[in-house]
Amino acid sequence: MALVVQKYGGSSVADASCIKRVAQRIVATKKAGNDVVVIVSAMGDTTDELLDLAEQVSPLPPGRELDMLLTSGERISMALLAMAIANLGHEARSFTGSQAGVITDSTHGKARIIDVTPSRIREAIDQGRIAIVAGFQGVSQDTKDITTLGRGGSDTTAVALAAALQADVCEIYTDVDGVFTADPRIVSAARQIPRISYDEMMEMAACGSKILHLRCVEYARRFDLPIHVRSSFSTKEGTWVVSDPYTEGTEMEQPIISGVAHDRSEAKITVVGVPDKVGEAASIFKTLADAEINIDMIVQNVSAAATGRTDISFTLPTADAQTALTSLKKIQAQIGYESLLFDDQIGKVSLIGAGMRSHPGVTATFFAALADVGVNIEMISTSEIRISVIVGQDGVDAAVTAAHRAFSLDADQVEAVVYGGSGR
Ligand code: ASP
Ligand code: MG
Repeated sequence: MALVVQKYGGSSVADASCIKRVAQRIVATKKAGNDVVVIVSAMGDTTDELLDLAEQVSPLPPGRELDMLLTSGERISMALLAMAIANLGHEARSFTGSQAGVITDSTHGKARIIDVTPSRIREAIDQGRIAIVAGFQGVSQDTKDITTLGRGGSDTTAVALAAALQADVCEIYTDVDGVFTADPRIVSAARQIPRISYDEMMEMAACGSKILHLRCVEYARRFDLPIHVRSSFSTKEGTWVVSDPYTEGTEMEQPIISGVAHDRSEAKITVVGVPDKVGEAASIFKTLADAEINIDMIVQNVSAAATGRTDISFTLPTADAQTALTSLKKIQAQIGYESLLFDDQIGKVSLIGAGMRSHPGVTATFFAALADVGVNIEMISTSEIRISVIVGQDGVDAAVTAAHRAFSLDADQVEAVVYGGSGR
C-alpha cells in the first residue's frame, strides 16, 4: 500500500461539478488500495477575487488581515471536497493548514515553512480516512497568526506534507497534461516533457513558468521526493520531476534545451549618470536590499570618458518598482546620479536545458532566432543551464515561438490541450 499525496489546483475545483469529478478520482485512488492525502487550492479565480475585494476597502490592507481573508478561499474548497467524497460513501476529513501542522515564520503574504507536524493527518489516515488539507497556508510559530505562502503556494504545501509524511509520490493535478516545452497558450506546437530534473524545473519556475511553484521544487529536491505533474481532466501520463531524469531506467536522450520560459511580470529601472566611483553601485544595491527588493538582472554600461559617469540598469518584479523608485530618490543627492528611468513594458525569455553545458553555440542559435523575427535584446544573463534575455513586451510571443522552433522543440502534431483555467 502506497501513501499518495495529491494536489488539485484552482481550475480543477473551479465549480461543483469539477469538485465532484475530483472526488471520484480521489476515491478511485483510495479504492486502488492507497492511503490518500489531498491538498486543495481555492476554487477557480477565488484568490484574485478576494484580492480585488480587499483592494476596494483598503489600498494597503494589513498583511495579517489579508492572509485571514485569502486563506478562506482554500477552506471553502476543502470542505466542499470532503462533502463530495462523503457523498460517494467514503470518509474524508478536512483540515486547515494550521490543523495539518504547517508551521511557518511570521512573514505575511510570503511565509516560509519551518516545520511540518502532521499528527492529525497521520491519525486520519490511520483511521482509514481521506485527509483533505487547505493549501497555501500555515500558522506562524511566533505570533500564532494565520499566514500564506505566496501565490501558487499550494504546490509547496503538497510537497512539504508529502515529505513530512514520507509519501511515495506527490501528484500535482493541474489544467494541462504536464510540463511543456513552452507555454501552450503561446506556442501551439509545444511538446509535453516526460521527465525533467529538479534543477531544470527550478530554472523554469524562476523564469516565469507557472506550472509549479519554485519553492515546491526546491523542497522536493531537498527531500528527493518525486513530483508527478498531471491533468485532472485526462488520464495521460504527465511529467515526472526527479533528480536524474536521463539515467533512471529510461532510454531517453538528454535534449540540449528542455524548454523555453517567459515572464512578463518584471520591470526595468535605469539609474542614469552615476558617478564612476568606487562604492556607488554598492550604495544603490544596499538601498534596494534594505527595502527587501529582489533584483534579477543587472547591466552597467562602460562609463563615458568625457563625463566619468555611467548608467546602471536592473530588473525587478513590477510589483516592487514603486518602492524601489522611492528609495532610490531618497539617495539621489548622496549618490549624485542624474535621473531615473522606468520601463514596465519588458519581458524575459529564457532557454533552459542541462544539455547546454556540453553544447557550444546555443547562445548564437538563440540570438540568431531572435534577430530573424526582429526582436531586439536589451539585457542578457546566464547560468550554467539557462540563458535569459530581456526584450520589449510586444516581442515576447515572437521570441518564445522563434526560440522553440530554432531548437527543434516543435511537435509534429498539436499535443497541448488547455482544459481549464483562465490563465490569470
Ligand atoms: N489559491 C492560491 C493562489 O491562487 C494558492 C494556490 O493556488 O496555490 O495563489
Ligand atoms: Mg489559484
